[in-house]
Amino acid sequence: MNSAELVSPVQSNLRVGLGRVLIVEDEDLIRETLALGLAEEGFEIVIAEDGLTALDLLGGTAHASRVNRPEINLVVLDLMLPGMNGLDLCRLLRHQGIDVPILILSAKGTETDRVVGLEIGADDYLTKPFGMRELVARCRALLRRRQSNLQATPDNVLTFEDIALHPQECRVFLRGEEVSLSPKEFRILELFMGQPRRVWSRDQIIDQVWGYDFMGDNKTVDVHIRWIREKLEADPSHPVYIKTVRGFGYRLG
Ligand code: CA
Repeated sequence: MNSAELVSPVQSNLRVGLGRVLIVEDEDLIRETLALGLAEEGFEIVIAEDGLTALDLLGGTAHASRVNRPEINLVVLDLMLPGMNGLDLCRLLRHQGIDVPILILSAKGTETDRVVGLEIGADDYLTKPFGMRELVARCRALLRRRQSNLQATPDNVLTFEDIALHPQECRVFLRGEEVSLSPKEFRILELFMGQPRRVWSRDQIIDQVWGYDFMGDNKTVDVHIRWIREKLEADPSHPVYIKTVRGFGYRLG
């Protein structure tokens, strides 16, 4: 079960802004190709051959040691794995509140797989076969986005009517009661609360929350808005907080 190992051939050559990537892939050739390609670009690489090892490395198992665990900044996750598959791992990580950016790799290319992957909390999705340059670009984009989100997060609590959002604690309260939001739901609400009454188009929301390189359908936004409404609104079909602006998008208030 000890299939995790550390390889960092260009550790001394790390460029600013690059981080440590966990590659979860059971096929040796693909795993080594990915590790080499990303390491050449300056990423530090950690590898896992199965889901449980990855879960352990990310601190998601009860016996995960906090002492020797390297900080992981991004996960490149294959879907077809022995034992726990990639979707189950992704779901489990999010369920445990581990919000490391996840890029899913899959040989399957159907819309359903992609949508399921994104809805259970993956940040991006790439279908095999893909070019190394595209993978590198997407890894960079995910890390950059995470970095700018962290830097832009103000210390102060955002409030709108009965809602209070604590950016650094990633917590939301409605009339003093905590509301449990997924990471994406949280980021959408944070975006809205930063500029109440501003109208956001679906594309703008995708740019801000998923990133400019999100290749999916903007109906994903509608799905997330519906989930937020179900959690915040007394009557989700007659929302008083997040309102639909027909022909444009959504706004808060
Ligand atoms: Ca595989």
